[in-house]
Amino acid sequence: MITAIVGINWGDEGKGRMVDLLSEKYDIVSRYQGGNNAGHTVVNEKGKFILNLLPSGILRDTTVNVMGTGMVIDIEHLYNEVKSLTGAGIKITPDNLKISDRATICMPYHKQLDILEEERLADKKFGSTRRGIAPVYADKYYKKTLRMHDLLDLETAKEKLADILEWKNLTIANGYGKDPVKLEDMYNWLVKYGTFFKDYVCDTTYYLNNAIDEGKSVMFEAQLGALRDIDFGIYPYTSSSTVLAAYAPIGAGVPGRKLDCSIGIMKAYSSCVGEGPFTCELFGKEGDELREAGGEYGAATGRPRRVGGFDVPASKYGILLQGAKDCIALTKLDVLSYLDKIPICTKYLVDGVETDVFPQGKALAEAKPVYEYFDGWKTDISKCRSFEELPVQAQKYIRYIEKLTDCKIKYVSVGASREDYFEM
Ligand code: GDP
Ligand code: MG
Repeated sequence: MITAIVGINWGDEGKGRMVDLLSEKYDIVSRYQGGNNAGHTVVNEKGKFILNLLPSGILRDTTVNVMGTGMVIDIEHLYNEVKSLTGAGIKITPDNLKISDRATICMPYHKQLDILEEERLADKKFGSTRRGIAPVYADKYYKKTLRMHDLLDLETAKEKLADILEWKNLTIANGYGKDPVKLEDMYNWLVKYGTFFKDYVCDTTYYLNNAIDEGKSVMFEAQLGALRDIDFGIYPYTSSSTVLAAYAPIGAGVPGRKLDCSIGIMKAYSSCVGEGPFTCELFGKEGDELREAGGEYGAATGRPRRVGGFDVPASKYGILLQGAKDCIALTKLDVLSYLDKIPICTKYLVDGVETDVFPQGKALAEAKPVYEYFDGWKTDISKCRSFEELPVQAQKYIRYIEKLTDCKIKYVSVGASREDYFEM
């Protein structure tokens, strides 16, 4: 079975949590895009972990984890993440972690440029995680980056880096007026953090394809939600890579037709970290209470997330993009238990017309939410382990969401721990 686990909304839907749960049935978990701008919180019998770069299968003893070619990897961050997990007793060796030799290295100057540009933009900033992701993907498409295999031959890497820096310093020194980046500093950084990963870097394309030929099952783990996709999301307030299920095989190096299914992770309400249009946003007391109830603070950055009710136009669009109509995991349903009336954004008002089509550009920026209120259940549901155990109103909420978005909810998550869920 080759499955992509992907986000339906703006990210932070609980993908890491669902990968940790569902990876039990898979031999391999592979990330295929993004960098350490992700923050996946996983809670299981081993403890609570926040993963930025490592696939969420890393917490299972028998799962092999792959960091795919489509990723951008800050090796300093990865080194610290590996050390922190091994310090907590998690086994990480070249046997259970394989890093694509073709994945892109995110350098310190990418991070620096990300910060410089957000500061230059001031109140027009994009709300970047400032981890260098946009600059490194831009350089990848400029074909001016180092890739993980360069760590295997650092002398050649140094020569490549000298050429790259000659170009990069045109921007850093002449553009932003900062000190030019020194070749020696970057080389030392590569040696310091790259040496550790030499045994982890391998040809993951052959590894994955051979494994699939041998009948192994693979789960692709997305890092952000559909609405953050570089092409189809809320551009330019998106991530800088393709987060969609269709890209999973590409980012990992597996033929697209081998993908059997997508599991869409969809939140029972909405959250959005950073800037950009967020039509269903709730403000004031209503928003504050939901943020607190859901613990909506960014795992990667600690930033308070913006929140709103379940957003029908956005979720329908996400389900469409992810091809996940027949397999949705609804997460954080328990968070809504405190509400007398549950807000649902059923439609957008665009140019005076109600629609459930997700717009873009000016229409999206100016869209107004059409809210409806659904009677709550006002009971703790975190111990429920079947649909039948849920209060009737919670059952109705699930059925109503299915109807509004024309999807099939297969899993329901009612808490952050691995076992806090049931299958429908
Ligand atoms: P990801 O980026 O999609 O992996 O999601 P995050 O980990 O950034 O955000 C989801 C947050 O909600 C994390 O803190 C999880 O521990 C938590 N979480 C996941 N599922 C549930 C759930 O069903 N109920 C509750 N209360 N928390 C959950
Ligand atoms: Mg997250």
